[in-house]
Amino acid sequence: MEDRRALIAGNWKMFKTCSEAVETARQLVEFVPDVNEIDVMIAPAFTSLALVNDIVQGSCISLGAQNVFWEKEGAYTGETSSDMLVSAGCKYVIIGHSERRQYFGETDETVKKRIDAAINGDLIPILCVGEMEKERESGETFSVLDKQIKKGLEDFSYSDLRTLVIAYEPVWAIGTGKTATSDQAQEVHLFLRSLLEKSFGAKFSESVRILYGGSVKPNNISELMAMNDIDGALVGGASLNAEMFSRIIHFKHQ
Ligand code: PEP
Repeated sequence: MEDRRALIAGNWKMFKTCSEAVETARQLVEFVPDVNEIDVMIAPAFTSLALVNDIVQGSCISLGAQNVFWEKEGAYTGETSSDMLVSAGCKYVIIGHSERRQYFGETDETVKKRIDAAINGDLIPILCVGEMEKERESGETFSVLDKQIKKGLEDFSYSDLRTLVIAYEPVWAIGTGKTATSDQAQEVHLFLRSLLEKSFGAKFSESVRILYGGSVKPNNISELMAMNDIDGALVGGASLNAEMFSRIIHFKHQ
């Protein structure tokens, strides 16, 4: 099995004004001065990216965006290109978050275009997939994920996707306080890895980092990270507080 480097990523969603984002980033740099054994990323709102970049530059914390548009530039009011994100200091971009799928008409087809833009723009894509509660209850979890992965990654080669990160985020666990058990998450992560193996080969599937997301907190991160196929976490609510997020980042030392 490949030695996959863990990634703990914070999704700040539509929270924090510029000054609040700067303050939280400052605190985080203080609480997490030198984490070498894992990767850490925070994704503030677009308005705070460049400001937060000034704070985290030179630290062990990388910057990510919460979305990217697929065109390079043009008359697309309200959109943000990969070049713009890179110029603001971004290394990662979250793509296909369930909130974008639920409220903003994101589809597997648009996800695919965004992944393409990220790869061509030198950003590491974090592709979010996950089933709704009713889909889990009706036994459709695997078929939903199969479609999201196959359609979202259609036509790419494994070398296109060499930096890809996947985040498994069961929609029923996001912001609800209901976490998938570590066994439930491991079962899905293994399934996702088997899907990747079928499409792109074993070497690729063993190297892809698969994060878990959905009500990750300091008290459940260690158990999740102990699972073979869980390579990190995408954290929403608990990443908004620097002290709480730093406890998640320091999961090995709890
Ligand atoms: C998320 O926004 O990706 C997420 C997992 O949120 P939370 O941790 O709040 O459930």
